[in-house]
Amino acid sequence: MNPAQSIRIRDLLATQQPTAQLVTAQGWVRTKRDAKHLCFFEVNDGSSLSNIQVVFENPEDAIAAELARVQTGASVWVTGTLEPSPAKGQNVEIHGTAVEVIGEAPADSYPLQKKRHSFEYLREIAHLRPRTNTFGAVARVRNRLSFAIHRFFQERDFFYVHTPIITASDAEGAGELFRVTTLPADNPPIAEDGSVDFRRDFFGKPAFLTVSGQLNAEIYACALERVYTFGPTFRAENSNTTRHLAEFWMIEPEVAFCDIDGNMDLAEDFLKFVLRDLLSGCAEDMAFFDTRIQTGLIETLQKVVESPFRRITYTEAVEALTSSGRTFEFPVSWGSDLQSEHEKFLTEEVYGGPVIVTGYPKEIKAFYMKLNDDGKTVRGMDVLVPRLGEIIGGSEREADLATLERRIDESGLHREDYWWYLDLRRYGSVPHSGFGLGFERLIQYATGMQNIRDVIPFPRAVKSAEF
Ligand code: ATP
Ligand code: MN
Repeated sequence: MNPAQSIRIRDLLATQQPTAQLVTAQGWVRTKRDAKHLCFFEVNDGSSLSNIQVVFENPEDAIAAELARVQTGASVWVTGTLEPSPAKGQNVEIHGTAVEVIGEAPADSYPLQKKRHSFEYLREIAHLRPRTNTFGAVARVRNRLSFAIHRFFQERDFFYVHTPIITASDAEGAGELFRVTTLPADNPPIAEDGSVDFRRDFFGKPAFLTVSGQLNAEIYACALERVYTFGPTFRAENSNTTRHLAEFWMIEPEVAFCDIDGNMDLAEDFLKFVLRDLLSGCAEDMAFFDTRIQTGLIETLQKVVESPFRRITYTEAVEALTSSGRTFEFPVSWGSDLQSEHEKFLTEEVYGGPVIVTGYPKEIKAFYMKLNDDGKTVRGMDVLVPRLGEIIGGSEREADLATLERRIDESGLHREDYWWYLDLRRYGSVPHSGFGLGFERLIQYATGMQNIRDVIPFPRAVKSAEF
């Protein structure tokens, strides 16, 4: 058993003119059917959505005995000749000459039966769900997109930086943090004022899992000019939505000498690049999502790749919403944050495609976003897409020291906590911009999968951390 020597099923299936050559395949049995003198079964090894069909005709007794152990879910090893297949939908099949069941799967207890299971049920068996069509396809799409993301940035001279997972600063003062501590939960040291004494904790101060690598990425952008992160982030979101996880992966490019317009161009080029790469590189899986999960998906994505994104200001967005005559659950007026229902309305009904919104009121955005000359709005930017709403959040960063200090004060934060961040504005400050893209949101958008828990192998969410 040498993985370097075995041919993957995807490559067997791609054989155009089989010459009855002897091949070996290995994988897990998806279905099996016995007929008189004949035994058919399908094997999948995860290399593609398609299975390879194996046929045994008039097997001799020893092989027939082994075939009896071939059941849905079993892992097998088969040898045979690769032949043209008479069945439709497949080019080739294996005419078996030898078979070995590596690991049996008792039919009465194997949790993946032939019928279609609900995604809710499959979440409960996350150790077996990658063996289904949908979750195999999601895994391959996730892999392809990861690689495309690195390729996009590497081809444009961005450096990949690793920002810390444990941090003592809350990037936005936004809360929703997971605490990291080695203090005993049952009997923590208490300070004079009665609170837990975190000076005696591992880091000598409170520490948390990161919610964003942005502030650290800014440090490297202000030295290497173009950088990006791609790593896990954590938010103790107490909201049970289909768009939020407690642990998710974020891509955060950060670019020096770049203003909000350059930032919008980057975000648009980026999304188009990775989606185009996905459509060509995962054609079979994408066709599956198109027919089984979200009708018209491929056409929509193709349109996204080909047409320019609409760019509007927050003020224009509010006007479009208030003049629409539509009643929203959350009423809109200038100053209020856009909710996902508004974002969907704008992208689906007003503009019919992705929209980039800029110029948000400073009160609803983070302190580090560059203040516009009007003193009221900031150069924040959200990329909104149909079905999902916000997929990217970013901004031009405040590069002026005095303004940034004032914004920190106004936001109720403490300058001392951001001394190093302020130093970047003190020494060789430069206009710079960046954005954050939730990787799972991108996969949701690209596949049409409804629930974010179904696009990450092992979802972490409220009351859910099995596996
Ligand atoms: P939302 O309003 O949807 O909660 P946010 O404003 O909190 O998003 P940002 O702080 O701007 O989001 O984070 C950047 C990106 O990270 C978002 O555009 C989104 O793609 C993604 N994201 C944010 N929170 C989550 C989460 N809990 N799970 C998965 N992805 C997330
Ligand atoms: Mn949020």
